[in-house]
Amino acid sequence: RRVRKRNIEMALNGKTAIVTGAAGGIGYSIAERFAKEGVKVFIADVDQAKGEAAAARLSSLGEVTFVQCDVSRSADVARLVEAAIAAFGDIDILVNNAGIVHGADFLDLAEADFDRVLGVNLKGSFLVGQAVARHMADRVKAGGKPGSIINMSSVNAVFAIANQVPYSVSKGGVSQLTKAMALGLAPYGIRVNAIGPGSIMTDMLASVNADPAARNRILSRTPLGRIGEPSEIAAIAVFLASDEASYITGQTIYADGGRLPLNYTVEVGKRDDD
Ligand code: NAD
Repeated sequence: RRVRKRNIEMALNGKTAIVTGAAGGIGYSIAERFAKEGVKVFIADVDQAKGEAAAARLSSLGEVTFVQCDVSRSADVARLVEAAIAAFGDIDILVNNAGIVHGADFLDLAEADFDRVLGVNLKGSFLVGQAVARHMADRVKAGGKPGSIINMSSVNAVFAIANQVPYSVSKGGVSQLTKAMALGLAPYGIRVNAIGPGSIMTDMLASVNADPAARNRILSRTPLGRIGEPSEIAAIAVFLASDEASYITGQTIYADGGRLPLNYTVEVGKRDDD
């Protein structure tokens, strides 16, 4: 079967999407860009006040709805997917973006904090991904079009940070989940990819950015010499969701200002644990 392409290849107009963790940061930027592309967006976030404010701000761009949802809880996820289908009839695009960090040295890391980060970043992506994929697969079986699922990974899927153990583990897991989901859903034509951002200017990074030494440390390993913008991640989500990416599945696309290709040396005589 040949893939027919339209003139405006990126066209997402009229499609429907769930973006988790879209009350702020990268998720908000993705929801905003989707709304500008004519996508009807469901913002799913654990933060009710921030989520409602985000949806209200974006409603001037298009149909944007907020649903309160903790992606680590399967009952919340079931409610989210039901609400999206009730509102839109269909889900074409899912972006599993919700994510949290927890800083602790390995020897001090508490079991509950390990579970919490893995619960949101990894299990949450599985839960929402499976619930939406079941809907997408049913639609394909009924003769409908397959959808696209995008997971938010990180350069920390490849690198590790000594005091961000559950985060690093969760993002490695997200990239593997992306591959396994892509293989499992390929028979339906459903594509599953991930985005692996480097350092992007959001609340998650704000504390780091406020500390000049930490900022310098980031820039010293970022060949493009600047911290990335959420809109630069949203642009990749648009691409991966669109038919322009019709032969890409199971991949993590890293947007990191050239950080992963860089083999740099640590400053001599200086170590983080000094
Ligand atoms: P952020 O903290 O600005 O936003 C995360 C959002 O997720 C918040 O709105 C928060 O309320 C929501 N959230 C948290 N727990 C949730 C839960 N259980 N259920 C639903 N929503 C929940 O973070 P960000 O920087 O925009 O990060 C977004 C994603 O991008 C995360 O997966 C993060 O790991 C990834 N990422 C960010 C960077 C970066 O530099 N900012 C780099 C690599 C990857």
